[in-house]
Order: sequence, then C-alpha cells, then structure tokens
Amino acid sequence: MSTVNLSSPFYQSLQRALSQRNTTLSAICPNDDSVARRVLHDYGAMFVGSENILPPPRCVFSSEEQVIEFQAEAGVAPAKIAIELQPAAIDALLKARAQAKTEGLDITPRDGAEAARRSYADTVRLWNSRFLPALDHWTHAGRLTEDEANRLRALPIHEQVPEVLELEKEGIFFSKDLSKSVLYSIAAPGTSQHIAMLAFDANEFLDARVREIMSEHGWFQTVLSDLPHFTFLGLTEDELPSRGLKPVEANSQKFWIPDFG
Ligand SMILES: [Zn+2]
Repeated sequence: MSTVNLSSPFYQSLQRALSQRNTTLSAICPNDDSVARRVLHDYGAMFVGSENILPPPRCVFSSEEQVIEFQAEAGVAPAKIAIELQPAAIDALLKARAQAKTEGLDITPRDGAEAARRSYADTVRLWNSRFLPALDHWTHAGRLTEDEANRLRALPIHEQVPEVLELEKEGIFFSKDLSKSVLYSIAAPGTSQHIAMLAFDANEFLDARVREIMSEHGWFQTVLSDLPHFTFLGLTEDELPSRGLKPVEANSQKFWIPDFG
C-alpha cells in the first residue's frame, strides 16, 4: 500500500470536514484497511462537499442494514425523472435540467433508476456481474486454476475485493472488458457514491455544455475514467481547490479528484 500524505491538500481538507462532523479519518477509513483507503482515494471527493449534504459515515459499508440506516439519515427525495438522491442533490439536478431545457438540451438518467440511488444489494449484484465472468475468463485462459477460482468464489465478499486487487497487480483484470481494474468499471461492494445518494449517471455526458450546466449547479465529475458519472458536491467550481480537490483532464473531460500532494 502506498504511504498516505496527511499533509496533502485533500487530507487537510478531509480532516477539517470530518472534525466538523465530529468524526475522524480512522473512524471512516481504518488505516490498515487497504480497500477502504483505495476507495477513499478513488471516490473521496464526496467527503469534502458542501454542508447541506451528508457523506457516508464509512468508506465501505458492509451490510444492507448500515446502508439503510445511512440513507434514512441522509434523507431521500424522489424526482419526476424516477430517480432518488439526497434532497439537496435532487434539487440542484432538477434546476440543472430546467436550465438545460431552456437551451434545447436535456439531462436524463442512464440505465433508468440505477443512475442514482443504489442499495447495498445493488452494489453486490454489480460486483458479481464483473467478478464471476472474469473468474471464468481467467480460468479458461489458464491464468487461474479451478481450485483458485473456487476458493475466491467461496470467500465472503469483503475478502474477495483485496484478493482481486492483488490479482490485478499481475494483469489479471476484472473490469467488464478485462483490460483494467474492476474499480474503474464498478465500485467495490458497499462503497459507491450511488449508495451515498450523491451520484448521477447522465446520458448526455459527452455534451460539453451539459457538463458546464451540471457544474454550475454543484455537480462535478470526480471519479477519473467514469465518464457518465457526476458527483454532487454543492459547491462552486472556484471553491473546489480549497477543499483539496484538483482538476485533471481525461477523455476531454475535466475531473476534480482528491489532491494527494
Ligand atoms: Zn455512476
């Protein structure tokens, strides 16, 4: 595991945000948990958003009960477009959509209701949709033995994740196209910004003006290489550097990701 630079802009900002919420880094993301730390680095922007959203109390949820408790505390607001998010996030999304419509554009959910709120079970199902076919593929390709694949299938789900990340270091990838880390394809079980109800996957992500309208309403792209995925931070773009986020250009889109110095 790479060392953590606690004096980096992101960690400085994160520690301020956590102390305002009377919690600590080790409470949301134990130092010895390499999966939690990886998740914090890949999806961490939501932890430094505005005061009117509630980030999750932990980087990795481990049960449906924990997710239900958090989602109830955060509050859920349905939208006319049949998706659910935290109230401030829905409010801003509907305003962004109204703005888009005045310009002859639209902002619509990709893959229906799955574009926004997800349950713990949804994240497990998505994990299995990548994990199980990849195990079959690598077994047929001779990179894993049947015994090894069976052992991995039988592990509790939270133990599958670190094993997969280890295999990926050897080029045995678990994304849908088997060419990159599974975490660039779907979130690890219990970790999605969609569980936090602060994420929305838009069909119109290729439209630069749509991305601009989203950002004008507090919605930014914060997960590198997840192109349709927007995160509600509830902040203006010029506030983001002071929250420990830095802009990175990828696939001609601008991502605001944690700045680890
Ligand atoms: Zn997404």
